[in-house]
Amino acid sequence: MQSVDVAIVGGGVAGLACALQLAERQVDFCLLEATDRCGGRVRTDTVDGFLLDHGFQVLLTAYPACQRLLDYAALDLHAFEAGAMVRCGQRFAVVGDPWRSPSRLWQTMTAPVGSLADKLRIQKLRKIACRGSLQQLYQRPQTSTLVRLRELGFSERMIDHFFRPWLGGVFLERQLATSSRMLEFVFRMFSLGDAAIPAGGMQQIPLQMQSRLPGTTVRLNTTVQSVQGRTLHLSDGNTLSCRQLVLATEAPAAKRLLGERAGDLSPVLEIPFNRVTTLYYAADQAPFADRLLVLGGAEQGPINNLAVLSNVAAGYAPADRALVSISVLGIDDSVDSLEAEVRTQLTQWFGRVANDWQFLQTYSIPYALPDQTPTALEDVVKPCQHSGLWLCGDYLQTRSLHGAMDSGLRAASGILQTLGLPPAGNDPVPS
Ligand SMILES: Cc1cc2nc3c(=O)[nH]c(=O)nc-3n(C[C@H](O)[C@H](O)[C@H](O)COP(=O)(O)OP(=O)(O)OC[C@H]3O[C@@H](n4cnc5c(N)ncnc54)[C@H](O)[C@@H]3O)c2cc1C
Repeated sequence: MQSVDVAIVGGGVAGLACALQLAERQVDFCLLEATDRCGGRVRTDTVDGFLLDHGFQVLLTAYPACQRLLDYAALDLHAFEAGAMVRCGQRFAVVGDPWRSPSRLWQTMTAPVGSLADKLRIQKLRKIACRGSLQQLYQRPQTSTLVRLRELGFSERMIDHFFRPWLGGVFLERQLATSSRMLEFVFRMFSLGDAAIPAGGMQQIPLQMQSRLPGTTVRLNTTVQSVQGRTLHLSDGNTLSCRQLVLATEAPAAKRLLGERAGDLSPVLEIPFNRVTTLYYAADQAPFADRLLVLGGAEQGPINNLAVLSNVAAGYAPADRALVSISVLGIDDSVDSLEAEVRTQLTQWFGRVANDWQFLQTYSIPYALPDQTPTALEDVVKPCQHSGLWLCGDYLQTRSLHGAMDSGLRAASGILQTLGLPPAGNDPVPS
């Protein structure tokens, strides 16, 4: 039986963040990943020269853990313009960020998406979100995002036309039941940095992390089937023993592996999750040239948000083609009928030319984001040690790339301390 000091189960960005810290201190560890590549929910396929991320995702460059762990220049990040094009009646209205794109000021102030006062309230929300440390933000009194927006005085029109589709695309739910702490966290991150995608697709993020690990420490296509004490039973028939065990899987997989030992952690591991479906289309010509996100406004159709990814990062599509990404919240059993409904809405938005767009692929993602309602976020940052095991993953922090990586940093920090080693250079970020 092979043995290592530390075994990490799961090669998403949480497991990779933990591994990077251990590698820095030359700890003898092994990362076991069930699939053929690291990245977990951050994954990109190449189809006919188009880069298709598994679900529309962006990196918010202000995420502290990402700033610590990623080399942004090497990722060749391309940023969205701050703001959005919102469907209102028969046209699109631009709501820009006048503080970053002063040329959008007039369009923004006159857009029929909420009142002038609503637009000024955005600045108030920005101030609140950027005040104090992240730790203080996580401890603020919380309610639902919807209640918080109403407390701040936003009109129902602004909420329905702008916040429901915009935050709906971030939280993957339009009821705005998500905790107001997440509203403030997300607003802070959008205010302090860019929303960006790497030139080579979102999967470049975990690939960059993996590339800094010694090659022999990562074992792909290796599922941990069960855990007995400190012995792991692997899908290839082998067993692996370890002194320290890190579960860096999604919450349901951690629950399965922990079994009875989950104990009082069960409510955390059994939390519901939000689902999303992403459809990709190839167009001969982009329907517009902006690097803006498009929001469905208060429309009844299935599209929540849309982006022409090749407008933002040209490498997402072959030369002279455009890649359109569409997010539909939830999961529909019938992809064909969903595609037909989406196509109808696209022709209403962009005319009959949308009928010529080539449907490329759909990604239905049942486990996209763990629930982030106020009850689930009572403690935003959950302890990473449980029953002698280390846990990491986005369900233990904010449901984001930052949260997942930060939880990995925290687990690594605890392990280094337990092994009597000094902290790694990238100490856990003050989250
Ligand atoms: C569609 C979508 C859109 C998103 N949009 C954004 C966004 O715009 N910005 C943002 O910050 N975040 C976004 N997120 C969230 C972000 O992607 C996640 O929070 C983060 O990737 C979670 O990382 P993780 O390492 O915690 O978990 P995962 O990525 O789920 O990693 C868990 C890993 O464990 C492996 N595993 C499971 N069981 C086993 C086993 N038994 N043996 C071995 N390996 C196992 C899995 O294969 C997987 O690789 C989005 C997520 C989705 C799905």
